[in-house]
Amino acid sequence: MGNHFQTIVDLDATRADVRSLAASGLEWLVREGIVRAELTDCVLGAPLGHPPGPFWTKAVSQEDWEPSDGLNIETGRTVFTGGQGDAMFAVCPHCAGRVDLYTDEWDTIEGAWEPFGKAIGAWHDTGDATVACPRCRRPGDLTAWTWADDYYAFGYLGFEFWDWPEFSPSFLKGFSRALGGHRTVLVGGKL
Ligand SMILES: [Zn+2]
Repeated sequence: MGNHFQTIVDLDATRADVRSLAASGLEWLVREGIVRAELTDCVLGAPLGHPPGPFWTKAVSQEDWEPSDGLNIETGRTVFTGGQGDAMFAVCPHCAGRVDLYTDEWDTIEGAWEPFGKAIGAWHDTGDATVACPRCRRPGDLTAWTWADDYYAFGYLGFEFWDWPEFSPSFLKGFSRALGGHRTVLVGGKL
């Protein structure tokens, strides 16, 4: 039994507007009653988070269980990942070609991972990296590549919910609107 998380990453947040976006995202969640404004000891990896609010059910597809933990807001350049495991493949933003990173049995593929690993390190350090697609040869911005199971997201703002039932598509849409219509991606997993 690990702890399960779902992180809604704002792909359009920049270093300049991340603080105000974090505040307006939280304000919306509190106004909807999805989380509470106060901070308690309810998240992993951070001292304090926002516990579930009276209307937490508005956020989830099925009320399988009551969320036991709360919301941590990550601000600053972050490589968001799905926790255990890895992405089996990446998809090029130009040609939509699929680049396999592992075999179906999760064996490493010689040389497949290295350019991505290097780019992820560079993005972490500088906020800027590209990977040349082995299929179409064009360099694609690391943040524009997509990943099997949405395993990775690269961004400056993430709303990380601990131990909640699966979020509903309508909640995710509404939350994107509350973030100024920004593109978001849901990264989930277990730790
Ligand atoms: Zn390509």
